Formats: sequence, structure tokens, C-alpha cells
Amino acid sequence: MQKKNRVVGAFAGLALAALALTACNSGTPGADPGASGGATDAANPWTVATDVTLTGSPTFDRIKSAGVVKVGVKEDQPGLGYLDPVTNTRSGFDVDVARWIAASLGFDADKITFQPIASANREQAIVNGDIDYYVGTYSITDKRKQQISFAGPYFITGQGLLVAANNDKITGKDSLTADETVCSATGSTSIQRIKEQTPAKTKEYDTYSACVEDLKNGQVDAVTTDEAILIGYAAQAPDQLKVVGEPFSEERYGVGIAKGDAAFQTFINTMFTDGGSTWQAIFDKNLGASGVKATQPKVDAAE
Ligand code: GLU
Repeated sequence: MQKKNRVVGAFAGLALAALALTACNSGTPGADPGASGGATDAANPWTVATDVTLTGSPTFDRIKSAGVVKVGVKEDQPGLGYLDPVTNTRSGFDVDVARWIAASLGFDADKITFQPIASANREQAIVNGDIDYYVGTYSITDKRKQQISFAGPYFITGQGLLVAANNDKITGKDSLTADETVCSATGSTSIQRIKEQTPAKTKEYDTYSACVEDLKNGQVDAVTTDEAILIGYAAQAPDQLKVVGEPFSEERYGVGIAKGDAAFQTFINTMFTDGGSTWQAIFDKNLGASGVKATQPKVDAAE
């Protein structure tokens, strides 16, 4: 308990530090001006590439002719994909991965159009060509791979449970009974697994933040999804919410792309593999002090 509060406090501190850094926009010691133009710093630890060659990718051809990159994201998941309603700025590990990909394709952040897309609508948005790629806690699954392809994985987490801070009854997945209602997002691996593996009643929304509101109001007993997401919500309301139990799945996050665009997939996978310290810098900036534990996974060309 003591430890969780400390972790959560550190998360808040990190957010403040990140804000301060943005406000000063000071260069960091050792910042690399970058051979291909642009400058890296702690806020944007990547360089905008110039003279990018990527042949045989319908997605890249579309991006080039449009002159903008359309990226699907989440915007209600603090630490991962978040739109600050006050400052209207986007932040989070996934958002920065999306910016890193755009920069590697030769497009600066001001050339990205972000589009919030709920869990249930991701495959269709990619199939329709509404977005060029999707970065938002998107687990690689065989079912999804029937419609789209994935680059990555770039992150691994596991499903967990978020409950009221004063709830002593729910201690993990196996403590759930038919008396409890658990909330999750439609179309997610999380809702599917909780239905399959527990007797709990379920409630679904488009977003996890709607579930969190219900949890705060006592309308549901728990919210379930990936721990990396839940830790971000707990950090925003540490007096009201806590993450309990051990993770009970392995969620391997991929970048959702058009099915069969092998050139685009290889490009992103190569970026992840050859990215040096960029992945770590993005992790440290967004999740480093949150209590989320992760190291960069090896990409899997078979995805
Ligand atoms: N990673 C899980 C999934 O892709 C849950 C989180 C989400 O819905 O984005 O289904």
C-alpha cells in the first residue's frame, strides 16, 4: 500500500517535470543534432529524417501524396495516449512512438493528424484507409491479423484489475465472483478474457475512462484492462483507486498497419530494432516513474 502510493506520487512528479521541461524547452546535455536533420532532446528524442526511401509501400505513397500522416490513437489513457483537455496537447508513450515513426518517415510533429479511435473500431479504420497507422495499446492477436498487419511488438504488459482504494474483497482475477460487475472496453482483449475466465458480470463502454467514472461512482466493482493503462488511471486518483493482483495475460502491443504492407512493416520494425536509445528515452519520459515495468521487446518479423 505504502509502496503503491509512492509509485503513484512519482508518476505525478514525472508529469510535472515533463511539463517544466517543455516549458523551458532547454537543450539536454549530449543532445544529438542528428545526421539527418533536426535535433533530439528529452522531449523529442528522435530526429526528423530527410530523403527517406521506402519503395513498395502503398501506405508511404499515400502519406507522401497527402503531405500529412494520419495516426489513430487513444486520448483518454494517461501515460500512454492522452489529450490534455486544458492545454489541448497530446502526450504518452504511444503518442511518442507515433511521432517517432512519423519523424523516421520524414514528417515532423506538425504534419501529424491524430484521430481518436476506440478499441472496437481500430481494424475497420485501418481497412478503410482512414488512418495510415494506429498506435494505442493495440495487442497483436491472430484474430486482428486476419484484417490488418502489425509492426512490433514494441511493448509488453498484462491484463490487470483496478478497484476502489477501500475495496479489500477483490484481490485479483481469481477472487472475482458472480456478485461483482467488471467494466471494460468493447472489442478489447480485456473484455473477452474477463468473460471467458471469470464468473463476474460485465459492463462495456467504448472507452476505459467511462469505466473509471463508473468505478468512482460505485456503479461497477472493477475495471479491467492492461496494467500499463490502469496504473495511469490510479495515478490520477490515488486516494480513490488502486491496481490489485498479478497480471493475468500477456499483451504484446503492435503498430496497426494495412494488411500486407510488408515494406511499411519492415520499415517500422527496422526503426524499432536500430533505434538506439530512442525507445528507452520515450519510455523514461512517459512511464519511467509510473511503476510500469517494461523493457523493449524484440520485434517479431513474423507479425
Ligand atoms: N491491449 C488490449 C487490446 O488491444 C486492451 C487495451 C485496448 O483496448 O486498447 O484489446
